Amino acid sequence: MYTSLYHVYMITQRAYKFRFYPTPTQKRQLALEFGHARFVWNWALETRTKAYQERGERLNNIGLSRQLTALKKAEYPWLSEATAGCHTQKLRDQDTAFKNFFAGRAKYPRFKRRHHTQSVRYQLDQRHVARNFNAESQRLRLPKLEALKLKWSRDIEGIPKMVTVSKDPAGHYFVSMACEVTIVPLPARRNALGVDVGVKDIAITSEGWKSGAPKYTDRYARQLKRAQRRLSKRQKGSGRRYQQRQRVARIHARIKDSRRDFLHQISSKLINENQVICLEDLHIKGMLRNRRLSKAIADCGLYELRRQIEYKAAWTGRDVLIVDRWAPTSKTCSACGTVQESMALKVRAWTCGCGASHDRDINAAKNVLFFGTAGSAGTSKARGAVKPPRAVA
Ligand SMILES: [Zn+2]
Repeated sequence: MYTSLYHVYMITQRAYKFRFYPTPTQKRQLALEFGHARFVWNWALETRTKAYQERGERLNNIGLSRQLTALKKAEYPWLSEATAGCHTQKLRDQDTAFKNFFAGRAKYPRFKRRHHTQSVRYQLDQRHVARNFNAESQRLRLPKLEALKLKWSRDIEGIPKMVTVSKDPAGHYFVSMACEVTIVPLPARRNALGVDVGVKDIAITSEGWKSGAPKYTDRYARQLKRAQRRLSKRQKGSGRRYQQRQRVARIHARIKDSRRDFLHQISSKLINENQVICLEDLHIKGMLRNRRLSKAIADCGLYELRRQIEYKAAWTGRDVLIVDRWAPTSKTCSACGTVQESMALKVRAWTCGCGASHDRDINAAKNVLFFGTAGSAGTSKARGAVKPPRAVA
């Protein structure tokens, strides 16, 4: 009944992120690169802001790059210790940040601080890329760093054009590679699935599968609270405060990682097994106003789940249908279509006048499937939240 019409091969950007363990020498060089990148960013931001406030002038990376080269020669010769390409990339990043600001998509760019995430971006010279990157032998070499020791947790497709090295506030190092890859869609299937999202179970399907939900916050909340309390007692600017801040950041990182892993398991399973996935367009902001629910919702990351499903669908040629959030998915009997007058949140199971008895969430998932595929007025079609990739064949 449902077949995907989207069987072209596409080229898209895919990012791979790996943990990475620098040698002491690399750590020193990176500290220098991060420091210089931060300096360049902050200098450019100040110069830009001044130029705009005083002369109404809008600077871009090309003009700033020229100024920076002059500065390097005159005032700041030490800037040459870092990789020059990284400075250029920082200026380009700032252009993007300003573009987003002027388009109303982001706040005014801010100054970078030492204890926030640090990053530098390298553009790989494509003429010599084979010498510096080899997927099979898991080799990556960057200017002034030599070979990096990566924890290559999955195979890389494509050739990286851009490599970002970052250090999070917990002191973990990461390498992220942006590769151009050709997407080969999964073989088409002929089924459709409705998915209801919730708090007790993150995903419930119209076929009756329930994902469950990890209780990270419960598990980590006490750890986090204790660590934060200790942090507040440490003296400002002290080494012990710095260490404690790293400890807090590590707990946050652990929570984020395990949450994302769990959501990836769910989204991959749904994408692999189904051609069409119907989702409800939850008004999560509205739900977040309900303070009792908000912590649990933020905790299970329903936004993130939808994002993952949408981009994986775009990669594999699956279809995602979004059901209007006003569709009465909870109140409708999926067997006979009768709409109940009200359905309190605490009602977990109910029996309809027609005799059908329902699990609240599975019934809702069945209705999401029905509203999604019956083409009701409230349905809009979405195929992936990522930018539409270029078709090549
Ligand atoms: Zn009924």
